[in-house]
Amino acid sequence: EGLAALVADTGDGATADGHAVQLLANIGTAQDAERLPVAGVQGVGLFRTEVLFLDAQSAPGREDQAATYARVLAALGGRKVVVRTLDAGADKPLAFVTQADEENPALGVRGYRLVRSAPELLSTQLAAIADAASRTGQDPWVMAPMIATAAEASAFATAARRAGLRQVGVMVEVPSAALRAREILAEVDFVSLGTNDLAQYTMATDRLRGELADLLDLWQPAVLDLVAATVEAGLELGKPVGVCGESAADPVMALALTGMGVSSLSMSATAIPGVRFALRSHPMAVCRRIAEAARSAESAEHGRAAALRLVEPDV
Ligand code: PEP
Ligand code: MG
Repeated sequence: EGLAALVADTGDGATADGHAVQLLANIGTAQDAERLPVAGVQGVGLFRTEVLFLDAQSAPGREDQAATYARVLAALGGRKVVVRTLDAGADKPLAFVTQADEENPALGVRGYRLVRSAPELLSTQLAAIADAASRTGQDPWVMAPMIATAAEASAFATAARRAGLRQVGVMVEVPSAALRAREILAEVDFVSLGTNDLAQYTMATDRLRGELADLLDLWQPAVLDLVAATVEAGLELGKPVGVCGESAADPVMALALTGMGVSSLSMSATAIPGVRFALRSHPMAVCRRIAEAARSAESAEHGRAAALRLVEPDV
């Protein structure tokens, strides 16, 4: 047990009493995928495709994109891969598409909203993902960032299915999407909570402003309430709700999210062993108690402390 088990264990994610939670990796490039310790990950829960576009002066074409996506799918050898469509704007500006003069770029034309001004970016990307799927014989999942309404989820799902993609979802990272999770889930096959942006928009706090880190704390009960509302909608509709923001990488928060009922946790690959060990050390009943303690706390600080008091001493 202890450290040896932590390093050696490559099993699927599950609580001490066998409640399964998929442990997935966040990646940004084909090299990331090729370097993943695939025996220790159950797949990719967030492929940030914008990394492919960051230094480009124009959008990479369908063939270039397809080649990269095919490399990622091949590297994962049949495991789940969730490809996120371009999330440009705000903290991820792109030379060829981001408007430089937006006064509030985090609230502007970013993520899925680019479809308004550059619809061909999305259609080319979806076609390239479908090309990679048929080339590798794999069935990638695809999701859109920055969805705010059920109508946007519906439009994205229509476009993705028309391209031939079969597992279609959206990110829940805007409070309106969490509040309308039921209506959004009715349009798609799954959702993934982006807790970085969800915290930013719930707390009205720039995710890049270090001096406001206390407000951006992922244990803020208001953020957890929106996470819980989304997970409850997923359980009601029988559709998977994952988390792919930083929250998933904190072993104690991972226990709280598991207690709420998330079906997958996606994080940087290096965080997976610690989260796997934390899960394996706690039964679901304790995870539920941790979630309740965090949500009923009066502040992020109290919530984290209450959660820690319920954690096994070795974790
Ligand atoms: C998030 O917002 O939590 C997320 C996973 O996406 P990104 O960090 O790429 O915005
Ligand atoms: Mg985000």
